[in-house]
Amino acid sequence: MSNQKLSFFETVLAFFDKAASFTNHPKGLLDQIKYCNSVYKFNFPLKLRNDEYDIIHAYRVEHSHHALPVKGGIRYSEMVNEDEVKALAALMTYKCAVVDLPFGGAKGGVRIEPRDYNDGQLERITRRYTSELIRKNFIGPGIDVPAPDYGTGPREMAWMADTYHTFNPGQIDANACVTGKPIEQGGIHGRTEATGNGVFYGVRHALSYADDMKALGLTTGIEGKKIVIQGLGNVGYHASNFFQKAGALIVAVAEYDGAIYNPQGINIDALQKHRQETGSTLNFPGAKNFNNSLEALEYECDILVPAALERQINDENAPRIKAKIVAEAANGPTGATAVEILKKRGIMILPDMYLNAGGVTVSYFEWLKNLSHVRFGRMSKRFEEASNSALLDSVEKMTGKSLSPEEKNLITHGADEIDLVNSGLEETMINSYDLIRNRLKETSGIDDLRTAAFALAIDKIAICYMQLGIFP
Ligand code: GLU
Repeated sequence: MSNQKLSFFETVLAFFDKAASFTNHPKGLLDQIKYCNSVYKFNFPLKLRNDEYDIIHAYRVEHSHHALPVKGGIRYSEMVNEDEVKALAALMTYKCAVVDLPFGGAKGGVRIEPRDYNDGQLERITRRYTSELIRKNFIGPGIDVPAPDYGTGPREMAWMADTYHTFNPGQIDANACVTGKPIEQGGIHGRTEATGNGVFYGVRHALSYADDMKALGLTTGIEGKKIVIQGLGNVGYHASNFFQKAGALIVAVAEYDGAIYNPQGINIDALQKHRQETGSTLNFPGAKNFNNSLEALEYECDILVPAALERQINDENAPRIKAKIVAEAANGPTGATAVEILKKRGIMILPDMYLNAGGVTVSYFEWLKNLSHVRFGRMSKRFEEASNSALLDSVEKMTGKSLSPEEKNLITHGADEIDLVNSGLEETMINSYDLIRNRLKETSGIDDLRTAAFALAIDKIAICYMQLGIFP
């Protein structure tokens, strides 16, 4: 079968098989890792009016139970189907392994267009979906912990947590049954922007290697780089904002209704305001409109950031991509043969399972916060500030020099929750990239970051199975 015809899940299997050939695990163990452990498909009715109902089709797939709980978002989209949820659940397993989170992978999906339902209906869908998960033991702080994904956000997570609480009165860790909640309901600072922030940290770190950049004909550093973003949802918006603040030029933004282009750069905050006011990305002052949103992927730029849905770069458009780096902020944006075409053309791909792991990484911090029942920084912030101030006072006395209040604040400031979350996220993205890059350099035959990342993940999961005593 040509790779072009592979389904999304088959594409993930193809990436897996390629990487598995660079490991030494028995076939049985590799098979145990690659296939989905549990697939739950269910339907339930939503009453619209007197005798009118919609039947809602829903899924939760737990891909790998090698580590528990399993973790992964819930997607609301008309395109949700079993193959997609299985592929996304599998990617969650490898994503968690590659950035060293103690979770197996999972994903959920509800096949609806959220815009077709009002808030009350969406709440009923979410609560019923959660009850169905509870009924089958597919949710719980130590079992399976959902999170936001395409089409869902903190509001849906709050409904899920509340439903779970209702069915589990007195369960002290109940809040850890879902992440991405609003701050007031046990969420964590920095979760909303976490995936975009992780994309930024990952790209910035990849760009810091002079040799790698020289091979691509690029200089190091984000400043001045031309970036095209596909999708201005939660991930795309925050990633563009971080890139822009670091001095990059966002030259094009593609959305479902078309694309805009301005070689001088598009101000992302102004564009967001324009979208809120007009309901569209198009007709943004100073930028040129293009009706074909997909064509934006082919614009001249240094870095292309697909931050929308899967399977956007295929055999057909891959030969025309002009970027030097494809930064996969979305899950599965590049098909298996498209990957080979880009590689032959010397384009570097920062793979999804690494690059968009920022969301689940901060979800991990939220889960830890919920289990420990204390906000990060609460115990240490004031203590750190007091000891830093005392140290600074003595230095000032000894040297006879004194700093401005701003300079003092910079030195004495004790870490708050958001500082710790961002520090943990930055550390994760830097560390994981270096592990993947080393694997690429050290294993003869591996010639791209995705295969290196998969090989790393497979080894980590295999070790877990061996420790569980399931495989010798
Ligand atoms: N939906 C996000 C992802 O695809 C986050 C999952 C999570 O936080 O569990 O990585």
